Parts: sequence; structure tokens; C-alpha cells
Amino acid sequence: MQIGSEERKKERLNMQKKRSKPIVTHVCALLLLMSTLMLSSCGTVWSWLWSREEASIHVDELIIGEMDPSEETEMIFEEVIEYTGEAHSGTDICYLGKKDSPNQSRIIVIDAGHQLKGSSALEPNGPGSEIMKAEVTWGAKGVYTSQPEYDLNLQVALLLRHQLIQRGYSVVMIRETNNVSISNMERALLANKHNASAYIRIHGNSWSDGSMHGAMTICQSANNPYADCAAHYVESRKLSELVLDEFCSKTGIFKQNVREMDDMTGTNWSQVPTVIVEMGFLSNVSDDRLMATEYFRQEAAIGIANGVDAYFEWLETSTVDENATGDQTATESPTETDIS
Ligand SMILES: [Zn+2]
Repeated sequence: MQIGSEERKKERLNMQKKRSKPIVTHVCALLLLMSTLMLSSCGTVWSWLWSREEASIHVDELIIGEMDPSEETEMIFEEVIEYTGEAHSGTDICYLGKKDSPNQSRIIVIDAGHQLKGSSALEPNGPGSEIMKAEVTWGAKGVYTSQPEYDLNLQVALLLRHQLIQRGYSVVMIRETNNVSISNMERALLANKHNASAYIRIHGNSWSDGSMHGAMTICQSANNPYADCAAHYVESRKLSELVLDEFCSKTGIFKQNVREMDDMTGTNWSQVPTVIVEMGFLSNVSDDRLMATEYFRQEAAIGIANGVDAYFEWLETSTVDENATGDQTATESPTETDIS
């Protein structure tokens, strides 16, 4: 009896084990199915994020004007030594160079050409001039990327500021945002007020012929009608040559030439060594696309800074001859029509 009941017990237990097997199998299968679903959905999310990442990199390369520069700006601000503000058509933005640097006493004034909204109000083309020109325009626009010139100029100007501060120079920025109202004459007066060692005007070029491409620099001629501007012809010319050389060698962009022009308001009012850097043609598809890349902008800033270094090296070893005549053989090449 006891034996019989023991056997029945064993039988019952065996039956229970047999019944529980399919339940365990089902639970395992369910868990497996759930994990598979979770993994595959994660995979989908990752691949979606990845494709978005790739897409944004692609877009940023082409349309950098729409990019948020805050990250880069934050990085640059970490390098800032000192900030002082002084009222003039807004605020003077000054960065004092590193204390022990031989470049600290060298003040580089950087003007990112143009601004968000132009002003058609008129101002004299030079001191005492009866020729009147619009105060400031909003500049050109990329033929392929639609990047606005005022923003391209600003992005390179901010990167150049970083380069120069790193090298110990003191820097004054004419503007650090696009929504300002500063005329070309006022910009030059700011460079004069700070007695700039070099005044660098950053621009992008534009021309009706879309095949025109490459970089050039512009300075006044030796015969500039405004005495205080003409007085700095030799330095301006050398600065323009060296900046163009270094700019093209760093960016790899086609090298045009140094042009001498006496109808630029922002240069005619200047009483310090001045250069306009025309980085490339926004009216040319290749130049436009190139200038929209972060790579080009970084290299552009380094190239200009190298040119500034080379200029001061030259200045240290040269006796500037104020009466030297300029290179009048500069070949004719077009430059943007709305610059002044
Ligand atoms: Zn311009």
C-alpha cells in the first residue's frame, strides 16, 4: 500500500514535470522574442540617428550659414584674456593680448565686412570728399549654397580672432554679431581710434561672370587722394601681399593678385595699414561651396594670421619708405561692386 502510494506520488511528480516543460519552453520563447524585438528596435533607432548625423554633417558642409556657431564661439571665448567695453556705435569689443607676448602691443582690428541689413544712407567716400556712397550693404550671396556674405565674413573673423589671441596679439572686433549698424566710415574710424597696427577687412567676392574664381587682396594706391591713407601705402601693400600669399598657400584656393583701389570708403578713411581680403568668389560654384566648409574657414583664419605674423617680421627688418611708389602693374581683375 505504502509502496503503491509512493509510486503514484512519483507518477504525479513526473506528470507535473512533463506538464511544466511546455510552460518553461513558452516563457523562454517569449523572452527570446521580446529581446529580439527590443534589439531590432534599438538597431532601427541607432540607424535612424546615424543617418540623421550623416545628413546634418552633409548639410553643414554645404550650408554653413545656417549653422549655429555657438559651440565654436564658446571654444574661442575660453581663450579670451580680457574684455573691455566702450561705447561707440554700440560697443568696442577689445581683447588684450597675452602679458608676456611681444605681440601684446600690436593691435589688430578685424572687420567682418557688411551686416545683416544694409543702410542706403550716404556718407563721404573719404575725408572731405564730395563723392557720397551708401553707408554699408549686406553684401553678396552664395550662388550655390545661398550663404550670405556677411555671415561668412563673421565666421572667418571669429576664427581669426582666436588665431591672433593665441599668438599674443591684442584684438579689436568691429562686430561679433550680424545684426549691427556700423557704416564703412565708422569702421575705419574705429581702426584709427585704436591706432591699429593692422586693419583687416574680411570679404567674399562676387562678379557677373560665374567662372571668375580665387582670392585677392585690395589696398589703396600710392596716389590715394587722402593723405593719411596714402601715408600707409607701403605697409598696406606689403600686408596685402603677405596675407594673400599665406592665405592661398593655406587654403589652396586659386591666387589672383593684389589690387590697388582708391574708391573704398572703409579704406580711404583709414589712417593705419589696411588690407581687404577677398577670400573667394561667392558667384563661383566651386569657391562658394569651398568657402561654406568649416575646413576652409579654419584654414582661412590660420592663413590670414600667418600673413599678419609675416608682416610684422618684415616690419622689424625693413625701413619703411613712405615715398616708395607702388606696383602699378597689378593686372585688372574684377571685384565685388558693392564693397566700400
Ligand atoms: Zn563684401
